[in-house]
Formats: sequence, structure tokens, C-alpha cells
Amino acid sequence: MNILVINCGSSSLKYQLLDMDTKNPLAKGLVERIGLPGSVLIHRPANGEKEVITAEIPNHSVAIKLVLDTLIHPEYGVVSNLDEINAVGHRVVHGGEKFSQSVLINEDVMKALQECIELAPLHNPPNIAGIEACTKLMPGVPQVAVFDTAFHQTMPPHAYLYGLPYELYDKYKIRKYGFHGTSHKYVSQQAAKLLGKPADELKLISCHLGNGSSITAIKAGKSIETSMGFTPLEGLMMGTRSGDLDPAIVSFIMRKENLNSQQVEDFLNKKCGVLGLSGVSSDFRDIESAAEEGNFRAQLALDVFAHDVRKYIGAYAAVLDGVDAIIFTAGLGENSPEMRQGICSGLEYLGVNINPQKNKVRGEEVDISEDNAKCRVLVIPTNEELMIALDTQSLVEIA
Ligand code: ADP
Repeated sequence: MNILVINCGSSSLKYQLLDMDTKNPLAKGLVERIGLPGSVLIHRPANGEKEVITAEIPNHSVAIKLVLDTLIHPEYGVVSNLDEINAVGHRVVHGGEKFSQSVLINEDVMKALQECIELAPLHNPPNIAGIEACTKLMPGVPQVAVFDTAFHQTMPPHAYLYGLPYELYDKYKIRKYGFHGTSHKYVSQQAAKLLGKPADELKLISCHLGNGSSITAIKAGKSIETSMGFTPLEGLMMGTRSGDLDPAIVSFIMRKENLNSQQVEDFLNKKCGVLGLSGVSSDFRDIESAAEEGNFRAQLALDVFAHDVRKYIGAYAAVLDGVDAIIFTAGLGENSPEMRQGICSGLEYLGVNINPQKNKVRGEEVDISEDNAKCRVLVIPTNEELMIALDTQSLVEIA
């Protein structure tokens, strides 16, 4: 079975076509600048050269048509016709309270997705556009929606409710939803395999540290608390997002900088975090280099970030009543020994003791703890596309 995984952003589209016998991608690629001048598709077949295709791509429907044409192209395609694509799995950012699992898409699901737009006005519309385009171009091919929020639907009310009047939860569904669920679920399952223990017996803290970052407390395979909230703005300081703030700061900035609600939200999402603090970049590689060269603000940004992560790990160890393993994943978590070291120093009281030699690893699945460490520290590269494809496969096989 071949499964096409689609992840539509507002102006981009990432795709992978996976062969489910081997679980490996036959091809992956990216469409950038959808609806903007200079749109481009970059296609990477597993056994061939990278292909860069420039074309006018005004919307997601045209982008998906181009992806499908590319996948069956006689020169750089990887299948001979569209019948060889058996199902499509879509990453959908927000499933609200309706979806605690992935679902086979039908009309009712589409209606429910429309209802979730209010909760994710930037993210859900392109996800819906991607599904509609596939429905048109690949009629009859089963499609599955895999939600970023679904894994966190197991959080208990005492974890997902804010200190706001309960009526606001009733009226507007204001609560913590959490994101990056597909990644947290995948790495927690891999952690159980790596530790050789059933997920049911494990208390895990999963740290997804990338451009966007979140931490999740996972007990017996279920998310019981996570750092992103009503939107992905809450929690850790990130590449460009502020993370947790005193809420009074928001109205203070609005008054001082003369910003309206949309402008302040944009500001908190795009101009803050390590970018704002360092003044260097939102990319941790640039910040680590600048800090090495003695840039004070870059070092400050790294210190604040590590402190933030350590603080959440401590809080989640309390929530879990102990922790068997801490997982590092995503761009920074997988690739920065310095950041992992920075976060873990000070966690010895939890039984954390990482081996500096093992910690040199980048992008490989490894236990980086000393042999006798009570709390294991694992580096596990995330694979959201594989998780989406596996969920898609199991739903299509049941149907
Ligand atoms: P996204 O949240 O966009 O999916 P990724 O998980 O790909 O992001 O993470 C991207 C971030 O990971 C980059 O912005 C960069 O800061 C960080 N990163 C990637 N490789 C390294 C590295 N070798 N050292 C330090 N940071 C890295």
C-alpha cells in the first residue's frame, strides 16, 4: 500500500509518498510560495536527483495537482499512475474537542472541520483546502485526517481548564488543546520500544524542540499535560513565539506600541521568542554560533530557553509523580548536544545523568544516559509523516 501524506500550511505544502511495506518514503517534497510570486515545487525521489519545478501556483488545489503530476511524471515520478496511491493522510492542526483520534474523512467530518476554523483561523483553512483538492483530483481514494490536537484529548479537566469563568469554556470552548500531538505520540511509542517496556508502565516527558516547541507529560501512553494551550503560543519560548507571559503584558504592549488585537497577536507569534530576545535569528544554529562568538543576547536567549525547558520538566515530573525517561526530539532536540546538556544540568535530582560521549549524537535514536542513570534521556528523531501514514493505513484497512 502506498500512502500520500499531505501537510498544507498557509503558503506551503509538504508531501511524502510512503511505501507501507517498507515504511520508507518513495519521494518527498515541498511546494513553497503558494499564492505568491515565485512559487516552486521541490521534489526529492528516494532514488533520484532533486527536481525543482517552477510554476504559477495560485492556490492549494493547483499545488496538489502539480504534486500528483510530479509523482507520476515519466522522468522523475515514482509511481506510474494515480491508482498506485491507495490513500491520503492529511495533517490537520485543530480537531477541537470533537476528535480524539484520526478519522476517515466524510461529509460530517468536513462539517466538523469547518466548525473548528474559529479555533485555528490560520491553520485549518489550508488543511481543508488540501482535502477538498484531493477529493476532486482523486475521487474515491480514501482520505484520513490526523489532528495535532487529538493525542492531547486525554488530558483531564484539571489540566486543560484555565482560571477563567467556566461560562467561557461553555460558550467559546476556551481551554488548553495542545499541539504537536502526532510527534509526541510517535516519539513516546518509539521510547517504549527503545526502553523495552510496555507504554502502559511508563512515565515520559517528551520535549519537541524545533522552531515551534512543546513539552508533554505522558503516562501509560496518554498525554496528561502539555505546554501549548488554546493556541500554539502558550508554553515554552520558541523561535519567534513569546510563550508564557503575564497576560497583563499583552494589553500593556497594545497601549504602549499602539497595536490592535490582530497586530499584537502577530507580534507575539512572529517577532518574539529567541528571535526577539537575541536580536540575531529565530534559528538556534545561528544563535548558538553568535553565542560562541561572544554575543551576550544570543547567550541570554539560549539560557532563557534551557531554563524554560528545565522548569517544565520539573513541573511535569511533579504532574507524573516521577519520570522514567525524558525524550528530546525535533530540529533542536535531535541535533543540539549543547542544548540537551544545558537543559539536563540541574536535573540530577530526578536521576538524570547523561553521558557526554553518547550525547554527541545528532538525528539518531539513542539512549544518551549513563548506564546507572535512574531517569533515561533519549534522543528520538520524530517522524510525523510516518505516524500519519500508519494511522491512515489502519483506518483504511478497517473500513
Ligand atoms: P519546525 O518546528 O519548523 O518543524 P524543526 O523541527 O525542523 O522545525 O526545527 C527547526 C529548528 O531546529 C531550526 O530553527 C534550528 O533552530 C534547530 N536546529 C536544526 N538543526 C540544528 C543543529 N544542528 N543545531 C542546533 N539547532 C538546530
